[in-house]
Amino acid sequence: MLQLRSRLVRSLRALAPSLFAACAAALVAALVDSLDGNGGAFGLAAGAGFVSLLVVPVAFATSAIVRAVAAAWQPGDWREPAPRLAAWLVVIGVDAVVLAAVAFLGVRWFARVSAFQPMAVSYFASTLCATSSLALVALARPTARAVGAATARIAVRWPAAMRPLVLIVAAIAGVAAVAAIAWFSIVLPSLGAFDTSVLYAPAAALATLIAAHVLWHRLANARRIAAAIAFALAATAMALALVASRTWANTTLELWGDRAVAGFAIDHLFDLDRIRDEVPISTYRPIARAGADHPDIIFVTIDTVRADHTPPYGGHAEMPTLAALAERGTVFDWAFSPSNVTRRSIPSMITGLDADRVHGRVVGWALRIDPRHVVLAERLRAGGYETAGFMCCEGFWGTEMHTGLQHGLEHLEIEHDGVGLAKRARAWLEARQHRAGNRPLFLWIHILEPHNWTAITGDPHNEADRTRFYDRVLGMCDGMLADLVAPFQGAAKPPIFVVTADHGEALGEHGHAFHSTDLYDSQIHVPLVISGPGVAAQRVSETVSSTNLVPSLLDLAGFEPPTGRAIDGRSFAPLATGARASKPDGVAFAAMIKDRSNPGGVTALVEGTWKIIDDGKHLELYDVSTDPDEKTNLAAREPAKLAHLRELLLAKQREAAVSPFE
Ligand SMILES: [Zn+2]
Repeated sequence: MLQLRSRLVRSLRALAPSLFAACAAALVAALVDSLDGNGGAFGLAAGAGFVSLLVVPVAFATSAIVRAVAAAWQPGDWREPAPRLAAWLVVIGVDAVVLAAVAFLGVRWFARVSAFQPMAVSYFASTLCATSSLALVALARPTARAVGAATARIAVRWPAAMRPLVLIVAAIAGVAAVAAIAWFSIVLPSLGAFDTSVLYAPAAALATLIAAHVLWHRLANARRIAAAIAFALAATAMALALVASRTWANTTLELWGDRAVAGFAIDHLFDLDRIRDEVPISTYRPIARAGADHPDIIFVTIDTVRADHTPPYGGHAEMPTLAALAERGTVFDWAFSPSNVTRRSIPSMITGLDADRVHGRVVGWALRIDPRHVVLAERLRAGGYETAGFMCCEGFWGTEMHTGLQHGLEHLEIEHDGVGLAKRARAWLEARQHRAGNRPLFLWIHILEPHNWTAITGDPHNEADRTRFYDRVLGMCDGMLADLVAPFQGAAKPPIFVVTADHGEALGEHGHAFHSTDLYDSQIHVPLVISGPGVAAQRVSETVSSTNLVPSLLDLAGFEPPTGRAIDGRSFAPLATGARASKPDGVAFAAMIKDRSNPGGVTALVEGTWKIIDDGKHLELYDVSTDPDEKTNLAAREPAKLAHLRELLLAKQREAAVSPFE
């Protein structure tokens, strides 16, 4: 018993420096992590707690393992020259570089030829690494022997250079030098402007971890006090974080959004969705206009539809249902998507924020939006609406990705096939009509088919094919639209239909196929058709943006359109109802944002018929009323117009830095 106790005390004592160093590392990392954040003393303490929950165990385990390995190697005992050790260190270093190069080049090549299929890439990468490691191991001994002949000669001439401690230090310095050269000459140039700020806190933690061990041996009698203080601070912070995760949802969400390491810890140690659910839905309640009607709203977003190929805009795609809705309702001649790719457009469309003001992190193909953002469905649900979503696909709306795009949708069905999805929505709508006491309805459907049009039609062989194939897929979507319209034929109180797209599609314009590559009209001029009770049958020439959808739909639903820092859009409902006439200076802003496959860095602004595009190097100016294909850059010829649009664009670019959170 006594023996056991003394052994326990001994091992605790042996682990004490690791615990001290881990707590100190966590506290320093938390300080660095909180540098740009705000949230006051409480936010700082809770943030430190979340960081500690992650860093203390990781740093403690790292320290304990490194110390155990060092104790096993006993480097202090090595005094004799060790040419064999030198040879092996050289072989290990060279092998590491070879393995890194093989893995990098091999995976990059395979990812390209396999069109980035994650499963196939994973199998290939692991097989490649395993076979190259085996080959390197097989070659290791003969190589070490050959290198050993040279190091033995050095050992005879300069025995001091072959002392084991010197060799270990040289090896560590060599690794650091190679890593630095690779980073600055290969990694940074190929990745472009790379945000290294996420590395500051981990680097600070590592430096503190090492410094704390060195300090431990110098502190002597003050050790106990130092360890007790570090441990007490970290433990208090961790307790506070645990309480915050249960009780102060807003603080926790803020930390997720503002702090890299604390956010990572919250993501991986807690259920962010559950924490967000703690915020009462009434927080998002819009202000109802007295006596206003609350009509049903069917919101249809079709992926990748350029306006000019649809019938309301003179296009040749066979879309009779859309044409009929347009005939009865309002067609916005000049509606622009906020970006040119789904993961940036959709979040912007449902938050009402410009694409560059939506905060979030890229997950897969989607954007996981900052949990503090409030989306359209939540606002309507809080206002008393029943909300339903029929969405394609899992990557955007599935629970696994936690994108937050599904927030507020009480009933959610996800299916890849648009035909099936529309049938499910229709069946659900028909069943609902037999229910009594329904609340007003907000139904959102997102159809993906045109995004993958070549997968449906096959690759086009010429220009004519390209148009024909793309239009054929748009025609398919009209059938889906028909399924949504059908349940309301002859209904006493028909819904308001809003049909639009998240972005367009280049069909060869400006040298581009598909989308996410530029901000010309082919990729951002989208259809916008609104039809239903109270909506005038007309064409609206005023330029509008899809960021206006949130305030506009809330307005049409009988609520005051929200304003403030969390909304960039303005309601175009008065235009749709005919309460106000079109103005010639409507504005739409679009941003292409750098992330995964998108090079980013381009912004555009449309005012009336004029459009400016800024790629960071050149400015382009077009008059789309006379030059719809944006072929003649008028930047040099129209300096006054250019200066005016540039002013508006600069104001938008500056706004990107303004936090959307109150
Ligand atoms: Zn899309």
